[in-house]
Order: sequence, then C-alpha cells, then structure tokens
Amino acid sequence: MDAQGKERFAKLLHHRAGALEKGAPVAPPIVSATTYHLPEVEGASHVYGRMSMPTWDAVEAQLGILEDAPCVAFPSGMAAISAALFATLTDRKKLIIPADGYYVTRVLSAEFLAAYGVEVIEVPTAGIEVADVSGGAVVFIETPSNPGLDCCDISLIAQRVRTAGGLLIVDNTTMTPLLQRPLDLGADMVVAADTKAPGGHSDILFGHVATRDVDLAARVRNWRKLSGATPGAFEAWLLHRGIETLEVRLERMCASAQIIAERLADHPTVQNLRYPGLPGDPSHAIAKRQMAGFGFLIGFELASAEQAEAFLSACPYITQTTSFGGTHSAGERRARWGDPVAPGFIRLSVGVEPVEPLWAAIKAALDG
Ligand SMILES: *Cc1c(COP(=O)(O)O)cnc(C)c1O
Repeated sequence: MDAQGKERFAKLLHHRAGALEKGAPVAPPIVSATTYHLPEVEGASHVYGRMSMPTWDAVEAQLGILEDAPCVAFPSGMAAISAALFATLTDRKKLIIPADGYYVTRVLSAEFLAAYGVEVIEVPTAGIEVADVSGGAVVFIETPSNPGLDCCDISLIAQRVRTAGGLLIVDNTTMTPLLQRPLDLGADMVVAADTKAPGGHSDILFGHVATRDVDLAARVRNWRKLSGATPGAFEAWLLHRGIETLEVRLERMCASAQIIAERLADHPTVQNLRYPGLPGDPSHAIAKRQMAGFGFLIGFELASAEQAEAFLSACPYITQTTSFGGTHSAGERRARWGDPVAPGFIRLSVGVEPVEPLWAAIKAALDG
C-alpha cells in the first residue's frame, strides 16, 4: 500500500470526528427511518428513505475518502454494476465486457441489455488493450480478472476509450481502492462489490459506484432513487464497521498471499499458478506499475477435478465457499460454475489467519 493510501485511511478512520457534538456517539447510529420531519421540504437533509438515509451518508463518506470521489451506495455489487450500465447505456448502444470476468455481469448483459438493443461484445482481458473500442462504446473492464487473474493497463485503455468518445468503467472489486486507483488512471467510473474485502466478514451484500463526473454521479443517484435499488441501514452500518479494519486486513492478506504463492510455486502437484506478485507471472509487470499491492487472490490447477475437490475437503483452514475477501481463507473449484477454466482450477482467497498454520494446513492437504 502506498503512502497516499495510508494517509487516506487515517483520515477515513477519523472522518466523523470533526462534526461530533459533545456527548454524540462516535460510531454512527443505525437509522432505518423511512420518513423525516418535513414541515417544509426546502433545506431538509433527508426527505424519504428511498432517496437517502443517515447511515448511508456515513458509509458513502468513508467510501468517498477511500476513492477520493463522490460515491453512491448500493445493496450489492451487481446493483452497483447495473446502475453504472443502465446510467450510461441510454445514449450509448455498444458495450464491451470481459469474456473472462465476473460471470454475472456477462449474464446480465446477455439476458437483459442485449434484449434492450445494446450490442454486447466480449473481449478477453488479455486482449482488451488492442481491442476495437470505436463507436463511443461503454467499455467495462476488470483487472485482475476474476478468476483468471489476467491484468490489463488501465491508463492505456482509458486513453484509447476517451479518444474514441467512449466511457470506461472499471470493476475494482478484487483490488479495492487501497490497492488500485482506476479513477486516478483515467477511468470514468469505478464499480465494486463491497460484499468482498471491504465488508470483509462474509455477512453483508453491498456495492458502490464512484465517479468524479458530476453528471454521471447524478444519473447513478437518480437510477438508485427510481429503480429502488437501495441498501438497508443495517448493512450500511455493518459495512462502515468492516471498512474500519480494511487496511490492516489487507496488509495481512496480501503479505500471506505472497508467501503462500511463492511456496505453492515450489510444490510438485501445483500447475499453472497465477499470482500477480510472482516475478514470473504474465501480469507481474503491469501489476507492479498500476497496483499498490498484489492482492489476496491466487489461482492454480491441480491435475483433475477429483484432486482439487479432495484438496479442498482435506484442508481445515480453507472454507469451501464461492466468495472471497473474508477473514477466513476460502477456496473453490471455479469450473463448477462453468467458468472457462481447467476442471482442477482452484481460486484461493487468502484470509487473515496467521500464515504459518495456514500454510501448514495447505501443504498437508496437498501432500495428502
Ligand atoms: C462478487 C463480485 C461482484 C458482484 O457482487 P455482489 O455483491 O455479489 O452482487 C461483481 N464483480 C466482481 C468482480 C465480484 O467478484
């Protein structure tokens, strides 16, 4: 993590302090009220729960410091992605998405956006830097891609998209704003599933859109109000609490992932290992340039689906779940969802366990 990220995080931890009155609660209260006292509408800080809520304000303020941009909170990562797409595909009718990215974005595009007349083009992450982005397209990228962990050059793509009159949206879920800053690299919008590392405890769905473009931010906010894709106050409160430890959790998770990836590289049963922090990884050079850390996700293959399942079942410190970014290390065989990966491919999300007991458990399960 770079010095600026650490500065922002220190500021984030104290973001409520300046406005607190004597005796006020330091942690934000959960306010789930749908209605607000309105003798007149003019000047009211809140009007109706579908438009804004005090507990969203608290988490949007935190996220705004992290992103260094206005943020709009959503009840899930997909709600944030939907908002970004529906807010930009009104006058634009061409959408480029990663062929190897988060699969739900592809299904949403195929089943709904295409039906509304949007031309949807899938491009692999490794080929997007040279793809045809003409025609004022909305270009949606994910780097590192999930689950293959290929990376692409955000500033290069941002430049090409801008020259072609398009818009660039980056799904920054796998990195978080502490490890990668797409808006600083020229992206128009960032979307993220805070369900993952920011929430961090595998107990809430949440998402956000960040953009420094005032008109786009207003459109996304309006989409939330009109579509009703509004987060709950309790979830916003839990995310606010989770984010307070994001920086310490990420430090541990990234440091452990580097150690585990290096040791996996030396294990005879492991093939096609991917971790951007390994000097020999195809994504290492670009990752080093544009990321402030290499993340906590590792991809690797065992010889067969059976071997991969046996490994996951044998390792007591890997929970077999389909998400990532939580306190517990988690792993799964992605081919079970139809991802275009080898049958024995495992995505490993490294948690906050002390690294030596975690590695000992992984090594024993691989050796067994
Ligand atoms: C999980 C995930 C999402 C969707 O987030 P939800 O909160 O499950 O809706 C979107 N993009 C990426 C890269 C993800 O990993």
